[in-house]
Amino acid sequence: MGRVLITNALIFDGTGGEPRRGELLVEGNRIAPADAQGAPAERVIDAGGRFVMPGMVEGHAHLSFENVCATEDLIKPTPEAQAFTTARGARALIEAGFTSAYGASEAKLRLAVAVRDEVNAGRLPGPRIRAGGLEISVTGSIGDEGREHDPRTGPSTIVDGVEEMRRAVRMHCREGVDNVKIDVSGDPFYPGTPGHTTPMTFDEVRVAAETAHAYGRIINAHTRSVEGSKHCIRAGVDALFHCEYADEELFDMMEEARDRIFVVPTVGLFHQIMAGEAAAHGLSAEVGGYMNIPDLLENSCKTHTELRKRGIRHLIGGDYGFGWSPQGTQARDIEFFIDYYGYSPAEALVCATANGGLAMMDDGSLGTLEAGRLADLIIVDGNPLEDPRVLAGPDNVLFVMKDGAICKNALPRTPQDTAPRATAAASA
Ligand SMILES: [Zn+2]
Repeated sequence: MGRVLITNALIFDGTGGEPRRGELLVEGNRIAPADAQGAPAERVIDAGGRFVMPGMVEGHAHLSFENVCATEDLIKPTPEAQAFTTARGARALIEAGFTSAYGASEAKLRLAVAVRDEVNAGRLPGPRIRAGGLEISVTGSIGDEGREHDPRTGPSTIVDGVEEMRRAVRMHCREGVDNVKIDVSGDPFYPGTPGHTTPMTFDEVRVAAETAHAYGRIINAHTRSVEGSKHCIRAGVDALFHCEYADEELFDMMEEARDRIFVVPTVGLFHQIMAGEAAAHGLSAEVGGYMNIPDLLENSCKTHTELRKRGIRHLIGGDYGFGWSPQGTQARDIEFFIDYYGYSPAEALVCATANGGLAMMDDGSLGTLEAGRLADLIIVDGNPLEDPRVLAGPDNVLFVMKDGAICKNALPRTPQDTAPRATAAASA
């Protein structure tokens, strides 16, 4: 079994404890067990004193979004062009230190499925992918433009009633989607159904969840409204996206469900709009004001601060790939989690790593650098606990390993890099 020894490292293992100085041995595709210390390594990587941490997880991936400014940008391009776009999205994520992508939805049904299969076969660079499909929405809600929808042209498929919902979810399962996504609440980008409304019925949500689970898939929901989020908890939805509006009853329901749900605030988009970063694309802070974004952002802060206190498993990422938010910059969310929700830097890094690993694989084998876990890790120039901004982009992520394989190595070469030697027990 191949062994890679990472020496001279400052190791943050993703459990939230203080980082330690030492070495880390990878054996095959796993972090080596403690009793393997001292075994010879075929390859030695000198981290040069740098920060080693688990690979990050994008918690609400739209791999096929690139420079998107309007819904038309998701509909107009050909499937052939969008397949390349999706492949570029996957590459941008792995180069920026995201070793996993937990899918939300894509511009067309099978884009993430196809790229996932190519990445898994080793023919394209990219993270572990739980592939999303289309948005599953209802008449008059997100993505319904009042014309016949061909689910293969995307980005939404419109259903009404439990039978159509069951059929749509089954079709997603047949086409190889891992993560089914339903649009339970409205959204500020669709004025007819703003974020606090709940166009989807409880029965539709329940049938979607039952059907996805019957096929062994995950069910995720776009939900900003109080009622929508309650539908999701009652129906057994696995991950709730956005969740700005809440009341006491919802907080209690979520706390009770905290060991089975994940919550992805996707706060980056609102931050970017209100900070003027999207202004050049027609989405200035003033336009954001007309769209009620300040109210959504204010409620996002209140709700997710409370959910943090109640031990809800938050994930970072989501809604990147717009004209102002290129793929691979998702780790900006770490800073937003600290500033808006009151997370400590170490806790925010846990959201970016360990929590995401659990969402990807519920057996606990992914997301930390504890002995025996899957070897997904990155080496960073700079200390994210002191300045999380060093993670926001590919430049400071010098080394990426996924499943024990080196996907990126931009570390300065040192003479001992490739020389085999015995490993020493990790020292303090
Ligand atoms: Zn989204």
